[in-house]
Amino acid sequence: DQDQPKKPAWIRVKAPVSQGYKNTRDILRTNRLSTVCEEAGCPNVGECWSQGHATMMIMGEICTRGCSFCNVATGRPEALDVFEPGRVAHAVATLGLKHVVITSVDRDDLNDGGAEHFAQTIRAIRHRSPGSTIEVLTPDFLKARPGALEIVVEARPDVFNHNLETVPGLYPTVRPGARYFASLRLLQRVKELDPSMFTKSGIMVGLGEDRQGVLQVMDDMRAADIDFITIGQYLQPTPKHHRVDRFVTPEEFAGYEKAAWGKGFLMVSATPLTRSSYHAGDDFARLRAA
Ligand code: SF4
Ligand code: SF4
Repeated sequence: DQDQPKKPAWIRVKAPVSQGYKNTRDILRTNRLSTVCEEAGCPNVGECWSQGHATMMIMGEICTRGCSFCNVATGRPEALDVFEPGRVAHAVATLGLKHVVITSVDRDDLNDGGAEHFAQTIRAIRHRSPGSTIEVLTPDFLKARPGALEIVVEARPDVFNHNLETVPGLYPTVRPGARYFASLRLLQRVKELDPSMFTKSGIMVGLGEDRQGVLQVMDDMRAADIDFITIGQYLQPTPKHHRVDRFVTPEEFAGYEKAAWGKGFLMVSATPLTRSSYHAGDDFARLRAA
C-alpha cells in the first residue's frame, strides 16, 4: 500500500530462534492448538514463545465476523471439538504456565456464542493446573442467547478480558458487527456478577483516532469499572486490511500510560508493542504481590 506510513525503528521484530521458542511451538503443534500469536502475526512471538507464553485460540480458525484489522479467516466455522478443552489443559500443564490467556474466534453460529466451550476449557485447566491463573479474552456474545456471559463468569476465570479495539467513531470501518456500548456493558456486567473478578480491555491506536478520543475511551472504561487497560500500535497484517493511519510515538504512549494510571486503572500497559496478552502473566503476578 503506497500511502502507508513507513514502519519506525521502535517497531522492531526479533527473529524467533531460541530453544524455548521451538519447545513452545512443538507443544502447541503436538496438541493441535491454534494461537493468536501466529494467526495475528504478532510481533512479540519470538519473545513470548521463548518464555513459554502463548495465547491459545479455541473454537477453530474461522470466524463469523470480519473485523478489518484482523487476520483470522471469515466464514462458516467447523463444529466444536469436544476434546479441545482437554488438549488446552494438557498444553498448559506441559508448558508449565503460571498464567494462561485463552481467546477464541467469534461464534455467532452457536446458540451460546461458545460460552459453554469457554467454561469447559477454564474448568479443564483448573483441574490440571490448579496453581495457574486464567485469563479469558472473549467475543462480545452479542448474538448469543441470554445467560451466555453468565456461563463463562461462573467458571471463574481470574481475569475477564474483552477488547473495545478502537474509539466508537471508528467502529463502522474497524469493527463492523460489534457495538461499542454493548462491549462496555458486557464488561460492566462481569463486574456486577462477580466483583472479585478482574476485568480488562484494550484498544489499538494508529487507526485514525485522536488523543481526545482515546482519553474518552479510558473514561468510559473506568465508568464500567474496568480494572486493566492495554494500548498498542495497530499494525496492518496484510495490504488488504485496514490501513495504518500513523505510528504513535513512544512519547505519546508514555502520555497515555500516565493518563491511564491517573484515571485509576489497576494495571496499565501502553507501548507500541503492547498486545492484549503481552506480559499479561507478569503484570498480573506483580499486581497480586502488591
Ligand atoms: Fe502471543 Fe500475546 Fe505474546 Fe503476541 S503478545 S506473541 S499474541 S502471547
Ligand atoms: Fe478477528 Fe475477533 Fe473480529 Fe473475528 S471477531 S474477525 S477473530 S477480531
